[in-house]
Amino acid sequence: MVQKLRITSLFLIHVLILLHIYYFGSDKIGSVDFQEFFHSFIKSGIINAGAMLVIIAFIFTLLFGRFFCGWACHFGAIQELCWYILKKLKIKPQTIDSKLVTILPIIILLNFYVIPNIYQAYKNPWSEISLAFNEPEIWAFLPGFIIGSLTFLIDGFLIVYFLGKKGFCRFLCPWGAFLKVPTALSFFKVRKTGECTYCHVCTNECPIGIDVSYEINKFEKVVNSNCTSCMNCTTGCPSSALSYTFSNPLKEEYNLNQFLPKKNIFTHPNILNNFKNLRKLDFYILPLTLLLGFAIDGLYGMGHFMAYGISLIASYIILFFSKNYTKLIRLGSISILVLLFSWHGLIKFSIWNGFRNYELKNHSTSILNLERAISIYPKKIGKFHIMLSEMYLDINNLEKALIHAKAAKKINPNHNSPDQLINIINNR
Ligand code: SF4
Ligand code: SF4
Repeated sequence: MVQKLRITSLFLIHVLILLHIYYFGSDKIGSVDFQEFFHSFIKSGIINAGAMLVIIAFIFTLLFGRFFCGWACHFGAIQELCWYILKKLKIKPQTIDSKLVTILPIIILLNFYVIPNIYQAYKNPWSEISLAFNEPEIWAFLPGFIIGSLTFLIDGFLIVYFLGKKGFCRFLCPWGAFLKVPTALSFFKVRKTGECTYCHVCTNECPIGIDVSYEINKFEKVVNSNCTSCMNCTTGCPSSALSYTFSNPLKEEYNLNQFLPKKNIFTHPNILNNFKNLRKLDFYILPLTLLLGFAIDGLYGMGHFMAYGISLIASYIILFFSKNYTKLIRLGSISILVLLFSWHGLIKFSIWNGFRNYELKNHSTSILNLERAISIYPKKIGKFHIMLSEMYLDINNLEKALIHAKAAKKINPNHNSPDQLINIINNR
């Protein structure tokens, strides 16, 4: 019954999203995205629909745990659907046990959302706190259809296939990281209230890969801050040993060990084959994921979620998954991945250096970098051609200035800037 309710809730969330897009429009309620809390509230003191959602989710989590993640998150729902489909197809990926499930989402949260917006607020302090529920418009921070669909494919399906249960929520989700503290302190938790037989059904049923049996027998409650209050463990326990109950936080026992990475989880013979301990690779996977993610983040209109989803999967394939195959396949797949990421790293560097030197009016270096970016970046960007045309015009290379202005016009026929540049060049 509880699970039927939860699935209905996850289904209704998608109906609400569609209603928001097609019915309410953005004139009344704008973007309802978690990142609004950082981009709008932290940065500019604006409380909008997204910021309200985060404030409500934070307070609700402090009382009841991460219900939002288990009962209302579309990304979580898609990953559970993927796990279900894989199970039906008799494909059972091992769920990866790694300390990165704590470190990586926190790095993403701090690096992309907390630090840059606090820095902006420090540079331009808020003059007031304002309300603006219709701002920004729904699609302000969302990618287009193709990148959006690919993000769901990578972070909803591929990541589950490679890293196991809710790979995105565990390894990457910055909003989950944001809710970790209120989850750890929440009043309501899954607690041990009966005799446990160590059957480990609860651990196997947990959709987010928590060793429930280990935690409830060591700490008398689920202490993992990834718990999404889905109740799969409480309803699934054949001995009725678990309940979701309230405890006065002032009387609750907190043990330092419950906040530290647990050493002997996932080792019971009943679950051993379902989980894979890769902690010894954390030291390599973390920098590689960050490096590869940095190399592709922002290219092709790709957001952080998709870029770091790809980089995490690629790091995992390079350092672990490819070991399951012959040397030739391994070497081939690693070479292709290294080549692809190096290529895109060079594109990213060329764009960054081109823009930087354009601002500094160092035309020769900027031209060199932007010309390289244009020649190796498969996506055609009108802005690069405009910048190049302007710089060639400055150094009196009218032939190249015209070529780039015409290229920009071909990419964006409705923009005025290429026409203006062509006029200036023709009148020289
Ligand atoms: S399902 Fe119940 S009995 Fe089995 S290990 Fe979990 S808490 Fe113990
Ligand atoms: S520990 Fe229990 S309530 Fe928490 S996510 Fe796992 S199955 Fe759901």
